[in-house]
Amino acid sequence: MDFNDKTVIITGASRGIGASAARIFAEAGANVALLARDQAALAALAAEIGDAALPLQCDVGDYQSVSAAVSKAVDKWGRVDVLINNAGMIDPIARLENADPADWAQLINVNINGVFNGMHAVLPHMKAVNAGTIITVSSGAAHRPLEGWSAYCTSKAGAAMLTRALDLEERASGLRIMGLSPGTVATQMQRDIKASGINPVSDLDWEDHVPPEWPARTLLWMCTQDADEFLGTEISLREETIRHRVGLL
Ligand code: NAP
Repeated sequence: MDFNDKTVIITGASRGIGASAARIFAEAGANVALLARDQAALAALAAEIGDAALPLQCDVGDYQSVSAAVSKAVDKWGRVDVLINNAGMIDPIARLENADPADWAQLINVNINGVFNGMHAVLPHMKAVNAGTIITVSSGAAHRPLEGWSAYCTSKAGAAMLTRALDLEERASGLRIMGLSPGTVATQMQRDIKASGINPVSDLDWEDHVPPEWPARTLLWMCTQDADEFLGTEISLREETIRHRVGLL
């Protein structure tokens, strides 16, 4: 895929995997809309990337906020080619009996409704041209429960179903819908997990995590036809075959 003049919208672009993806897509020639709440972090990243970046303060849990950000990207560049649904949160990390109901609901809103909000806001722009790629960052936690992570595991399972549901509805319209399970990645989220000390993931050493550039480069690869056999599915960066296909090994 030639990324020149393509518009890529990345949620959760203020740090971690999302910020790395913004750099990788911009290096490939794309224009990148950077969505997150931390305006200062977005401004710093946009200054680093240059004219190809548009920082847009946005709370993915609020549909109007997402819709307004997508409209601004379309106003500037006239199109949306790729949506990376990456924004996500891990807190509350707590056994279910101790979890604060409002915190639990907030995570579900961000990690599930946030994914829906992104999909819903870009669909008219993609369907108008029968083309577009929507990738949602998933997790191994979508497929197995982990102690203290009832909200996170439930949310990632829900987001994985959104990927399958949207693929079912829109593949015939030419849209490419996929999920990426990145393994464990050296970001702030893993620092928070480590600090919680609650389940085996918190026992992992920092060296066990892959750098954020790995999922970022995988996301870029997933936008190419080489990944078409994975449409409607979730690919795992834990798989060596995928690492080879992406060129990470
Ligand atoms: P991170 O460093 O904590 O970054 C999370 C990003 O999400 C930040 O940019 C944050 O920006 C954004 N975000 C959170 N709530 C938001 C909201 N309401 N609205 C807009 N943006 C919001 O974590 P990460 O590791 O890069 O995580 C990225 C994705 O990968 C997440 O979906 C996560 O579940 C997934 N993942 C991570 C790992 C891992 O090991 N790190 C493993 C599997 C899956 P603001 O705070 O500025 O809004």
